Amino acid sequence: MGNQFIPYGKQSICEEDIAAVTEALRSDWLTQGPKVEEFEKKIAKYCGARYAVAVSNGTAALHLAVLAADFGSGDEVITSPITFVASANCIVYAGATPVFADIRSNTYCLNPAEVEKRICPATKGIIPVHFAGQPCDMDAIGKLAQDNKLVVIEDGAHAIGASYHVEGKTHKVGSCIHSDMTIFSFHPVKHMTTGEGGMITTNSDELYEKLLLLRTHGITKDPSKLTRQDGPWYYEQQTLGFNYRITDFQCALGISQLEKLDGFVCRRREIAVAYNDAFSGGEKLLIPFEAEQAQSSCHLYMLQFDSLDRLKVFNRLREKGLGVNVHYIPVHLQPYYQENFGYNTGDFPEAEAYYARAITLPLYPMMTQEDVAYVINAVLSTVSELEG
Ligand SMILES: *Cc1c(COP(=O)(O)O)cnc(C)c1O
Repeated sequence: MGNQFIPYGKQSICEEDIAAVTEALRSDWLTQGPKVEEFEKKIAKYCGARYAVAVSNGTAALHLAVLAADFGSGDEVITSPITFVASANCIVYAGATPVFADIRSNTYCLNPAEVEKRICPATKGIIPVHFAGQPCDMDAIGKLAQDNKLVVIEDGAHAIGASYHVEGKTHKVGSCIHSDMTIFSFHPVKHMTTGEGGMITTNSDELYEKLLLLRTHGITKDPSKLTRQDGPWYYEQQTLGFNYRITDFQCALGISQLEKLDGFVCRRREIAVAYNDAFSGGEKLLIPFEAEQAQSSCHLYMLQFDSLDRLKVFNRLREKGLGVNVHYIPVHLQPYYQENFGYNTGDFPEAEAYYARAITLPLYPMMTQEDVAYVINAVLSTVSELEG
């Protein structure tokens, strides 16, 4: 028990994954080959979107999405302060201004009422983040966007496999029913991995074409799109793009991982239920909330410690071998955002209250029942030690 260390997240790689990557490595295509398109088609189908564009990582996906959305100088884009910095950084990449809106105290996701308060003539978009896998209130956000002509980019880095119900229908995150685009990340801590990797889903022909162009330097060889034709070698750069491509062997891994995604999410939910059962009822512990109209993909399990010293709890759990973490330091409290955009402590009380009390517990599909029991015991014993 002394040497036990249970990280907060971990990838699950099996022999089939390794075989799939090996096969891709033996093929003629290491990059720009058939596995990329196959992976895109399978993700689009899984999410219920028309198109998917695979890229080198989730941050690149956000970058291309904000460029395709045409956000730029003078535009304001609203996002959540409780997210990884990339959700806000992409707005700055586009030369636009990030505007934060406070979260709901229960779901820790953007509060549509707070978003509405911040909409002004300069507002061009919203980037809702399905924090920890809990889908945002997309119905309300979609309506705000429609009324104010805003582009919505869902940050689904935590939420592949999550779904929500509106008017009797179930929508997977990534279906883009209430948004223009959704992005995913395939970093090893996320639900499924390609090492590094990302994806953008959309139902728009126009956005799809733009994303394809932006992913490869702004270059096209498509004869129907060229402005002239110099010869068989000819290609055209039509906009300023990047090299944000992903490789075929990464996509081979992604295809193999996607087959196991529902099983991964199912196991994560099982563990979350075991945690909820163990931690509910006590006064000191606040378990995550799941909205009735949504099914979380349980990317992270955050427990809030009320009237206990969070730092002491954290240190004690680390001493007991739990790789606990805190997700996230509110983005508006990062020095970069304070210095460049004038944000301050006190700006978003719900986000800051959440941050002051939250600890992320280990949660990943390969956790054994013994691991889960060990975590539960470590948390409960720490609470009683610190109470005493
Ligand atoms: C991981 C993550 C990203 C960025 O994904 P990368 O693949 O690491 O670039 C963006 N947003 C959120 C909420 C994330 O958790």
